Amino acid sequence: MKNAIVRAGLAVPADAIRMTSAFLQSMTGVESCCFWLGSRNPSGKATVMAIVVPRQRNQPGNYHVEADAMVGVADVARQRGWTNLAQIHSHPGTDVRHSGYDDEMANSRRALSLVYPTYGALPGMWCFRGWLWRLWPVPIPQEIGVHAFLRAKWTLLDAAGVAAAMQVISGPKPAFIDLRT
Ligand SMILES: [Zn+2]
Repeated sequence: MKNAIVRAGLAVPADAIRMTSAFLQSMTGVESCCFWLGSRNPSGKATVMAIVVPRQRNQPGNYHVEADAMVGVADVARQRGWTNLAQIHSHPGTDVRHSGYDDEMANSRRALSLVYPTYGALPGMWCFRGWLWRLWPVPIPQEIGVHAFLRAKWTLLDAAGVAAAMQVISGPKPAFIDLRT
């Protein structure tokens, strides 16, 4: 039996995927992380409204977010009435499976955990809005590893699982909230 969040699905504006790629790539040569926050209705259906970047330490092979930096993310969520819907981080190469460290760092088990490849790089159509809209509609990029906490462990979803868990929508463009300053 799949967990309720995966069944209900997360609506992800294409701009959220594109802007997240741009942020992760701006952190040249190091892993980095951000969160997708948004509202969830009583049926469990949720929409990404914002990309939130916490204070963090970044290295080529990992990243770290201190507990007090997570409080900053929780503050944003509380102030806006949002929920943490997904935690996202980048890997150096194309292996987008969770490491043991990732299992520990993925703090919210009700949220999905996404791993972007090659320090955030996605195929070209995700770099430019114009290309993206010309190719619309688009699925979640298969290069991204999507994990859900199922049956007491973080599990990499297959293509059918990803399609059930997340759908790309055309809008609205999410807010970009950078808490690093
Ligand atoms: Zn990782």
